[in-house]
Amino acid sequence: RFITLEGGEGTGKSTQARRLAQHLRGLGLDVVETREPGGTPGAEALRHVILSGAAEPLGPAAEALLFAAARADHVAGLIAPALAAGKIVVCDRFIDSTRVYQGAVGAVDPSLLDSLEALSVGAVRPDLTLVLDVPPEIGLARAARRAAGAAADRFEKEGGDYHAAVRAAFLARAQAEPARCALIDASADADAVAAAIADVVAARLGL
Ligand code: C5P
Repeated sequence: RFITLEGGEGTGKSTQARRLAQHLRGLGLDVVETREPGGTPGAEALRHVILSGAAEPLGPAAEALLFAAARADHVAGLIAPALAAGKIVVCDRFIDSTRVYQGAVGAVDPSLLDSLEALSVGAVRPDLTLVLDVPPEIGLARAARRAAGAAADRFEKEGGDYHAAVRAAFLARAQAEPARCALIDASADADAVAAAIADVVAARLGL
């Protein structure tokens, strides 16, 4: 089973990915926990290039190509082998992030993203995608707390309109594919969100 977590900055994806992996391990399941961009040495190197490597931000097309390259390595090197071995894979961000950031926000042509998706993931599609949703002011405040003292990556420097557009695009994806996606209200405290996610995973995947 392949479970992805998606959502904008400050929605708590990383915390909830960890909590979900712990929960599933507690049920005796073999879980691989991973994230994008990254997950394999090659993809982590590309993550550095994408998020902080260049003096000037990359354009959306260049970004889409690098995300696809990182994803192809991640799928071939980690995700596909783990799924083939019968493990559960929990991944923090995947194809929906590209559709939102490079597609809806970056205006890269959807048919190009279709091709990149086919090339990078093939048939390795999530069985369940948890779309974590919070109002932008909560997400921005959480992200600002996390970034305090640390250098913000280029995505975390964007303003409120950007975050509102990201949120709307994730909501649209959840609505467009209700069989695969579950919308999670992530404005509550971490324990309550983790419990809601465990309920959805049990109901949808029988885990
Ligand atoms: O999940 P995390 O916050 O670590 O993601 C790093 C950054 O990469 C995010 O700020 C997000 O905006 C950006 N991103 C992106 N396109 C993707 C995946 C992530 O622009 N396909």
